[in-house]
Amino acid sequence: ADPILKVRDLTTRFFTEEGQVNAVEHVSFDVEDGEIFGIVGESGSGKSVTALSVIDLIESPGRVTEGEIWYRNETLADEFRGSIPDAVDGDFVDVRRLPKGVRRSLRGPSFSMVFQDPMSSFNPSLTVGEQIAEAVEVQRRARANPRRTRSRTQGYGLGKLVADTLLPSQSYVSDESMNRAVELLDQVGIPDPEDRAEEYPHQFSGGMLQRAMIAQALAGEPDILVADEPTTALDVTIQAQILNLLRDLQEHEGMSILMITHDLGVIARMCDRVGVMYAGEIVERGPLADIFDNPVHPYTQGLLGSIPDVDDPSTRLEPISGNVPSLIDSEMPNACYFADRCPNAMNDCLTRIPEYELDGRHSVRCVLAEREYDPNDAIDTEVY
Ligand code: SF4
Ligand code: MG
Repeated sequence: ADPILKVRDLTTRFFTEEGQVNAVEHVSFDVEDGEIFGIVGESGSGKSVTALSVIDLIESPGRVTEGEIWYRNETLADEFRGSIPDAVDGDFVDVRRLPKGVRRSLRGPSFSMVFQDPMSSFNPSLTVGEQIAEAVEVQRRARANPRRTRSRTQGYGLGKLVADTLLPSQSYVSDESMNRAVELLDQVGIPDPEDRAEEYPHQFSGGMLQRAMIAQALAGEPDILVADEPTTALDVTIQAQILNLLRDLQEHEGMSILMITHDLGVIARMCDRVGVMYAGEIVERGPLADIFDNPVHPYTQGLLGSIPDVDDPSTRLEPISGNVPSLIDSEMPNACYFADRCPNAMNDCLTRIPEYELDGRHSVRCVLAEREYDPNDAIDTEVY
């Protein structure tokens, strides 16, 4: 399949008082049409920051400092080919080079996001139906006038309840949008959607609210749905139902999904291709079968060794012994970031490691792609 998204050398840093945090370092990956691409890693590996960077939701003191985010969209490509030629390559536009208003208008019809905590994604003082209907209206307005759209519910997805909570709860959504909201609730498997649409978020169970958040994310008919730990807060049975729902939606709507998770079971069950993240880098990337059956990077091998049953979505990633290097710049070792935990660390590993292509689709950032482990060349990793 063709890519709908090509992320190249994406680099995101946070400029804090303690120093510069290199959260995402030269990350590259494609998301193909209608596929589920997974990014897996421990917490703090940079996977959520990668997702937020892609959909342009990094906030100060963070900033995407480098990289390109090529999104396939013929309409936009035609619109900017003349005025911002650098932002256009064939049918692709580099989202980072588009004007801010245009970038914002992509949220909904192009990119949409579901988060771990559905409660923080909804305004508690508006009914669920109103909020989904509002998302529908925002998309309609965005289509009519892509330069100016703002919703009362936008921003909730980041888990911060802003002053919007205090807005009056009178509805200004049209019947048409409300009907569409009910359809969406029905589509995500919420029983009695007409009645449920009139309820408030606190009247929903966690699993039902997660479905409602997915319905809201679908309002703009996005090309790419970004799902950041969408089932982590749910119990195992509900988790499986939500994953099935996402799978069904991806198959029937032809959407692509960028799935962020620490859970290899979720990856095994859902994803077509995977990127394994460690300390801000994608250390191995490839089709699911290559990664699971033929992992090359010792970190990937460690991850896979640490779960008893990859088909059981309830199994959790157990940490590998050793420390994730601090991502504060001044403390960053000038070596493979995994060297300190790696059983195969050699002298060659003390320089920055490039990404090696194993074949067209499987790549790895590790010297073992090029040479065998040699015990005579081993280094004492305690130096870190
Ligand atoms: Fe281990 Fe060296 Fe590969 Fe890093 S580059 S993962 S230290 S073998
Ligand atoms: Mg996270």
